[in-house]
Amino acid sequence: MQYWIGLGSNIGDGPAQITQALNHLESTGLVSVCRRSGCYRSAPWGVLDQPEFTNAVALLESDLGPLSLLDHLQRVEQAMGRRRDERRWGPRVIDLDLLLAGEQILRLKRLVLPHPQLHRRRFVLQPLAELEPDLRIPARGVVRHLLRRLPEQGVRLVSR
Ligand code: ADP
Ligand code: MG
Repeated sequence: MQYWIGLGSNIGDGPAQITQALNHLESTGLVSVCRRSGCYRSAPWGVLDQPEFTNAVALLESDLGPLSLLDHLQRVEQAMGRRRDERRWGPRVIDLDLLLAGEQILRLKRLVLPHPQLHRRRFVLQPLAELEPDLRIPARGVVRHLLRRLPEQGVRLVSR
């Protein structure tokens, strides 16, 4: 099964932490990273008085189901020092979100797919468009069309 995930960080060296998270994810052998985007920098979102964010997306291949993959993502967040009591949208060393599981639509308490904010966020859509502009987001549309409709959000590519 293929999954798109989003990675974000705004404490410490963002690009390094994103790479470290991908290495962590692969280290157990449960997941392989097929492709990853470059890193994109943007101003914070939601809670504004905090450092800039670095974001990227990756395409994973895994035999895990969506909930087991979410467990795995959360274990890696913990291992990298993420605290679950951090304020929502506040500073974090690493945030790993499950964006898409193919055409699956899921509305569980712990897991909503596609990720509910995905279609509104340039820091997710721009890296997705870098890898797969024609990707279809179930019930939302095609990545490059969604991107065209969004206002400028000051997202810029900082590293490959
Ligand atoms: P956020 O990513 O919104 O900044 P958190 O990473 O703290 O906040 O996630 C809050 C909760 O969102 C998690 O406990 C998780 O169960 C839930 N959640 C629902 N859908 C998803 C998804 N697609 N990917 C990741 N987490 C999700
Ligand atoms: Mg999250």
